[in-house]
Amino acid sequence: MSAPEKVIIIGSGPAGYTAALYTARGELEPLVIEGFAWGGLLQQTTDVENFPGYPHGVTGPEMMRELRDQAERFGARMLTDQATRVELASDPGGLHHVWVDDDEYEARTVILAMGAEHKKLGVPGEDALAGRGVSYCATCDAAFFKDRDSLIIGGGDSAMEEAIFLAKFSTTVTIVNRRDEFRASRIMLDRARATSNIEFLTPYVVEALLPGETSALERARLRNVESGEEREIAATGVFVAIGHEPKSELVRGMVDLDANGYVLVDGRSTRTNRPGVFAAGDLVDHTYRQAVTAAGTGCQAALDAEWYLRDTPAVTATQQKQAA
Ligand code: NDP
Repeated sequence: MSAPEKVIIIGSGPAGYTAALYTARGELEPLVIEGFAWGGLLQQTTDVENFPGYPHGVTGPEMMRELRDQAERFGARMLTDQATRVELASDPGGLHHVWVDDDEYEARTVILAMGAEHKKLGVPGEDALAGRGVSYCATCDAAFFKDRDSLIIGGGDSAMEEAIFLAKFSTTVTIVNRRDEFRASRIMLDRARATSNIEFLTPYVVEALLPGETSALERARLRNVESGEEREIAATGVFVAIGHEPKSELVRGMVDLDANGYVLVDGRSTRTNRPGVFAAGDLVDHTYRQAVTAAGTGCQAALDAEWYLRDTPAVTATQQKQAA
């Protein structure tokens, strides 16, 4: 095993890369375990119009590439692989251990920025038909649904964004929402309403997703939540856009999580309950969940890590063994 790292960052959305940029500029030579599909959920987005500094917008993947390049320019090292296990010290100054399969890394501080992933409906047929008509990312899969009738499930900004994008490819797009009101922002909702081949169906939930003879998705069974009426609707594409879940499995049992699995931090800081372990971005935040707020907390985590390293003497391996 090589010498302990000063900082290991796990995750690579706007939070992870901003933490990398700041710790790299602070000469902490961060090691970023960025995952295979680096860039986080923004890799699956089309235009980002609300990140300050891009008056003409930028695509999600382009923005992540630029953030990654910026962090690398100051010496951040990228490991395009998945962290598979962690062991986090409980005492101040203790070393943390991170594994990437059989390779073990030690670090004085760890910044958790694993982000969030798409929530599933949890209905019959969903898993079996994933990749056979059921998708969680219109931006990634829309081209496969050319000239078809598609459903979008959900009523938030993601659902509107996915529907507007998909409408360029599909014959019709029906947004199915479980309430008559929509969680989406007014501007996104208006854009969807102004798109001629987007329709709305409320208040309906999906009961089941059903295959046809070729084992690909053919129909969806929907239920009206007010009247109880059930109906089957033809659909060869169903896009699920019902929000996200934090990717905190790696640290479950090691850092404190809330009831929904989000990592808990101390007040307005990014400190977790483990000394030298900080958390940022969608892994922590179920309220704002914006690229700009994730980047902001990534910056906070970097500064928290820097101050911790400055103020906390390292515990030697011998001291750590004696304490155990
Ligand atoms: P949201 O949590 O905002 O919306 C989730 C939607 O899915 C809601 O309509 C919710 O209904 C519905 N839903 C949740 N669970 C179920 C279920 N089991 N069955 C049926 N429907 C369900 O998530 P988003 O991913 O849309 O947005 C996340 C954040 O990202 C937001 O802050 C959003 O503003 C932002 N965003 C911004 C974009 C932009 O500005 N370009 C684009 C995409 C996202 P209910 O309302 O009843 O709970």
